[in-house]
Order: sequence, then structure tokens, then C-alpha cells
Amino acid sequence: MDLSTELVKLPALEREWQRRVRCEPGFLFDIQHAVGGPFHVVYPRQFERNLRSFQEVLAAHRVSGRVYYGKKANKAGCWLDVIADHDGSVDVASEPELVHALAHGVRGRDIGVTGAAKSAQLLRLAARHDCVVAVDALDELERLAEIAATAGRVRILLRRLPTDAPDSRFGLSGADLDYAVTRCGQLASVELIGFSFHLDGYQVRPRAELAYDLITLCAKAKAQGHPISAISVGGGFACSYLSAADWAAFTERGTDELFHAGKRFDKFYPYAQGPNGAAMLDAILSTAFDGRALAEHLPANDLELFLEPGRALLIDAGFTAFPVLGFKRNADYGITTVQGLSMSVSEQWKGSEFLPDPILLPRNVDPAAAPTASCVGGSSCMEYDVLTWRKIILPQPPQFGDLLLYPNTAGYQMDKNESEFHQLPLPPKVVVTDDGDRLSWRLDR
Ligand SMILES: *Cc1c(COP(=O)(O)O)cnc(C)c1O
Repeated sequence: MDLSTELVKLPALEREWQRRVRCEPGFLFDIQHAVGGPFHVVYPRQFERNLRSFQEVLAAHRVSGRVYYGKKANKAGCWLDVIADHDGSVDVASEPELVHALAHGVRGRDIGVTGAAKSAQLLRLAARHDCVVAVDALDELERLAEIAATAGRVRILLRRLPTDAPDSRFGLSGADLDYAVTRCGQLASVELIGFSFHLDGYQVRPRAELAYDLITLCAKAKAQGHPISAISVGGGFACSYLSAADWAAFTERGTDELFHAGKRFDKFYPYAQGPNGAAMLDAILSTAFDGRALAEHLPANDLELFLEPGRALLIDAGFTAFPVLGFKRNADYGITTVQGLSMSVSEQWKGSEFLPDPILLPRNVDPAAAPTASCVGGSSCMEYDVLTWRKIILPQPPQFGDLLLYPNTAGYQMDKNESEFHQLPLPPKVVVTDDGDRLSWRLDR
């Protein structure tokens, strides 16, 4: 059977910069030679474009607002430099994340602190640096007020438990929210500036509706004397990794026979969707309530709009390179083993798979070679350390010393779950810049 015609291809949508970097002769092999193992390539200029696209949609709607980068999606420092230089903000949930943002020049007033019950140290640091804290529960409000009495008055948002996601562990229920608004009036050290939410899923409508609901809450809180000035609609802006046609072909096909060892998955990230990124923000802002677009209700109520995209700022901004260690055939398809662990493609650790096709960069192209089907395993001793269960089609059998590139990994795939299993060092991040004609690289700090 010729597997290469039986299988499904899922070529990643690719930006010009990615193609240029992987096609530049010797460039990636030189990096591999220098770092001596797997590595991540990150490209801050794409992050800058993504950030700007959100800021431009806000400006086009005449809505004043701030784009907070959901920092948990990637740990690199290079994004923070872009944020500091381009009027961005950062959303953090731990002390090290907050300190990292400050160290790269992001000012405290441009840092938002979210997450469930936060440590005393994190709350103190937030108050000292004039960060905006999204308060998640009544007891946290009391603890923050006490800390802020010494550390300094702190601006807060109250995070709302979404009515259509009552099982979420984040946010204040309706009754707690009402009480919290009143309580803020009695606490001299906290300044209630608005409300927030963060929703799962990638839908426009629920976000627009909840945003409108927060505007109503703002009006009531303002009437109670609070210095209300903002709402936050959180993150969850959609992204596409594949063409709609390829994604539809895969989902219609079902997953029989497509995966090594008969593996089955219950769910996948929606790899092609729309509207995406800043276009999704545009759709949210254009949603009409009471005959007016949401975008018009915001300035009419003197409100700024905060958003917290993570993945959507990182889309197309990085990829991962694994050196090939070997290739063998136990069946009518092969098994490629790479230097590196499946923890560097974190989707596997949510019981799912990162589906865009990896790209083989052979050290020696064999023009006579036939396409070859293969799954991809990591270099640990665990049976389940598999980067790609799907039988993918490579242009030729991979060989020791080739590179296997996983496209578009910057958002959540790169470093979310990495560990030093087997005492293997974590893959370094290599920052690629292209000032002028020349591509350069350096290690991320
Ligand atoms: C994770 C998270 C985000 C970012 O989510 P994305 O889906 O990456 O956009 C934003 N805000 C909060 C509160 C989060 O927990």
C-alpha cells in the first residue's frame, strides 16, 4: 500500500519570515551546532505585528484600551521588550512573571495580575508597583486590602464568574460580586476601577454579551461612587494554523488508521477558525446592543477596554527545531526519533495532538527518494513520549543529523510543560532578527 497517498496532509500556514529562516542555507544547522540539541526559534517582529493589529482595531473603533499579553503562553523575554517599546501591557499570575516583566522595562502600571487566589507576596508586589489586580474572591479582596494598607493603594478589577460557565473555578458569583462592590466602598486601600472576565472557547457572541453586561455593572458601581474606568474581556482570541480546506478534510475523514498504534483522540484544538485575532476583536466591538455597537457603548460610558490575548499575540511568531536521531520501520510506516521530548509540544500533555505537519530539513536532499510515512517519537524511555502519533508524510526517509521543524509552536506549545526529564537540558530559545538583509540570531535572555 502506498501510504503517502492514503494519509492526510496538514501543511502549516507559513509566514514569509519562517520560510526565509528555514530556507537560508546552513542557518538552522549552524544554530544547532552552537546549541548542541533541540531549540526554539522566536521572532519578536511578528509578535510586534500581532500586538499592533489589536491596537489598530481599538483605534479604528475609537475605543481607548490596552492589550495585556497573557504571559503564561510563552516564557521568552523577547516579547516583553516589544511590549515595553510599543505601549503594550502584560497579564501575569505569579511573582516571577511580574518580576520578569519589570526587568524588561514594562512599568508596573502596565501589568495586570490575574489568576485564582494569589499569594501575599504577589499581591504586595502588585500594590508596590501600581499593577491592576483582578480580584477573584471575597477573601482575596480582604487580604489585598490589608496588604495595600501598608504597601500602597491598589487598583482592582472584580472578576465575574460567567453566568453560562457556572462551573468555572474563577470569578465571583453574582451575590459575591454585589457584596464586593459595596465592600470596596468601605476599604480605603482599594480602588475599584472596573470588572473583568476570561472565557474558554473562541466565540465572539458570548464575549460581546458579557462585555455589555460588565458595562451595566460599571454604571451601577459608578453610581455607588467608585472611580470606574475599565472592563477586561480576557483572552481566547481565535487563531488558525491550517487552511480551512485542509482542516475540513481531516475532520471529515475521521481519525481511523491515521495514527500510530491505532491511537485515538477525543478532541483537538480547532486548527482553522475565524474570525481570528484582531479580526475577532473587531467582530466583538461591532456586535450591536440597544441599536449601538459595543464599541460605541464604551466611550459613552467613559470606559477603557482591556484585553488579554496570549496565543493570538504569539501566532506565527516561532517554531521548534529537533535534531533527528534515527529512523526505523516496524510496519508499513516508519518511526522517527528526535533529540528532544514531547513536553516541548505541550498539546500532547492535554491528551491531544499538535496537528500541523512537521517539516523535514534534510542535511542532504535525495532527489531520488520516495515520500515516507512516519510518526515521531521523543528521546525518552517512555512509550508515550510521542511528539506526533499521526503518520505524517516526509519527502524522504529522515536521517541522523537532519532537523525536524515543528511550525508555529510559540503559543503554549514551546515551554508550557517542558521538564528536565532524563536530566536533559531545556531547549534554549533563539531570537531571530532580520535588520537589513541579514538574518541574525542570539539566545533569549
Ligand atoms: C490564559 C489566560 C489568558 C490568555 O488566554 P489565550 O487563550 O492565550 O488568549 C488571558 N487571561 C486570563 C485570565 C488567562 O487565564
